[in-house]
Amino acid sequence: MRFSANVEKLKPSATIAVSTLAKKLAADGRDIINLSAGEPDFDTPAFIAEAGKAAISEGRTRYTPTAGIPELRVAIAERLSDRSGRAMDPDGVVVTTGAKQALFNAIFTLFGPGDEVLVAAPYWTTYPDLIKIARAEPIEVFGRQSNDFKVTPADLDQSVTDATRGLIINTPCNPTGAVYSEDELCELAKWCRERGVWLLSDEIYRHIYHEGEGAAPGILSLAPGTLGPHVLIDGASKSFAMTGWRIGFTYADTEVTKKFSALQSQITSNAATPSQFAALSAFTEKDSVGSALASMGQAFARRRELVCRLMDELLPGVPFIRPSGAFYLFFCVEDLFDEEITSATQWCSQLLQEKGVALVPGAAFGDDRWVRMSFASSDEVIEEAFMRISSAQ
Ligand code: PLP
Repeated sequence: MRFSANVEKLKPSATIAVSTLAKKLAADGRDIINLSAGEPDFDTPAFIAEAGKAAISEGRTRYTPTAGIPELRVAIAERLSDRSGRAMDPDGVVVTTGAKQALFNAIFTLFGPGDEVLVAAPYWTTYPDLIKIARAEPIEVFGRQSNDFKVTPADLDQSVTDATRGLIINTPCNPTGAVYSEDELCELAKWCRERGVWLLSDEIYRHIYHEGEGAAPGILSLAPGTLGPHVLIDGASKSFAMTGWRIGFTYADTEVTKKFSALQSQITSNAATPSQFAALSAFTEKDSVGSALASMGQAFARRRELVCRLMDELLPGVPFIRPSGAFYLFFCVEDLFDEEITSATQWCSQLLQEKGVALVPGAAFGDDRWVRMSFASSDEVIEEAFMRISSAQ
């Protein structure tokens, strides 16, 4: 069958594909440990879920303005003001159907044929595909492993051309868990500003931060004047355990925001109305959200320690990135290859078939020598997964 050039290079999300296969094997009766999914294992905090239910009961089930209910845009801008220490404009916020749509709006609005977009690698699997949907060219830029794969201006210098229009970074990073410091963000922001390159910063895991109090550094904490053209991508999915509610947002200049909103008005209109009211409680009920974030954050931080300890004990010598944020462990299985198994894709497939453990091969993130394990699971499940992985070696 012939399809349009828009989707010619499109493939389904690799991470969702692994997770779907693992679920199918489990449904067939296999004993599967699925550590491939990219979502918190916690239920949405009750006060948020109740706000969503109340919205439905009270008949808040009609269309809203495309960019979101005004009170949610105000609440998001207020939380962003807390981050930046200066007043952020509610007119710069567009509420989207998950951060994925926030990224789509930004990429499709800002880039097109002939444009090159630098993507800090290893990257979340969706970025290059969204860039291809916009018919622009994704250019992978790998940071050094010794720098936890974070990119620096020197790395970007190697890949910049006259066609470079954007840079996408993700901090905390999926799949590595690496977090850019404020100084590192400042360097990247300057590099982009000096070249008129759009900086798209995906900070969806910002509240899942294991190094110290509060959230990870983000581009809005940079001093005014540091940033050139930029878009912040964020949302409720990961921080508030709300993946199924589908609430994300962008924050950008108000002119750009109008274009994002116009695009969205032709595609999906507003994000689901009850979900917006649920998110409103997450962005306004500071005490309740504070304790929910603290308890989920403590669990993730404890599991971070657990997976790092288990790597040392059960897979000694296997290189891994110690995650500073998010809930992923990225480790290199290249030394475990043999004559038959020569890629992480094959390694993961064998592990799933023989040991019933589902991980995501690094091909999904740009380097098929590495694999990603989600540690959004109970300690017992994580321990059992490590036992099975080590018994496979
Ligand atoms: N950005 C990153 C880095 C992600 O890992 C994900 C989901 O896995 C998203 C964005 C999409 O988030 P949402 O579920 O809100 O669309």
